[in-house]
Amino acid sequence: MTETHKGVSRNEEGSPPFIRLFGRYLRDQGLPVTSQREAVAKVVFTSEEHLSVDDIEHALRLLGERIGKATIYRTLDLLVRSRLVEEHDFGEGFKRYEHRLSNQPVHEHLICVECATVTEFESDELYKIENRVREEHGFMPVRHSLEIYGLCRSCQKAGVQLTNEGLICPIEII
Ligand SMILES: [Zn+2]
Ligand SMILES: [Zn+2]
Repeated sequence: MTETHKGVSRNEEGSPPFIRLFGRYLRDQGLPVTSQREAVAKVVFTSEEHLSVDDIEHALRLLGERIGKATIYRTLDLLVRSRLVEEHDFGEGFKRYEHRLSNQPVHEHLICVECATVTEFESDELYKIENRVREEHGFMPVRHSLEIYGLCRSCQKAGVQLTNEGLICPIEII
């Protein structure tokens, strides 16, 4: 039996190996592996998106699962603590979740402030900068995140304009 499961497609019927990993984590913590927890985990593991709790609740409902928000929150908390899932705060007033088992476990995000589309990118240059800065400061990094906020291509094409609020460059005024 092989546990290596790289490049799992979202069309695959569930992702049993990942569910099993989560189940193992729960058992190690002395927590019960419930079908509700498994259902929430399955939604997150089979999605390539950055899901909000509302998205997850909606997906569960489409699957015929009626699972309350409190259970979803608690399960997400466990998934994040297991390190199988990453939590993001893109400044929208709610968190988003994505599993860390994709082909791109380390990646950065472009966030459209108009339509909330999240685009992922990878950058070798960024790794080089991180390494250089790490050496200069004798710093041992654990993780990093880079989020760039702005307008996606289609919002720009649709003519969306960004309004600048506050002072643009206070130093020039002084
Ligand atoms: Zn957009
Ligand atoms: Zn991502």
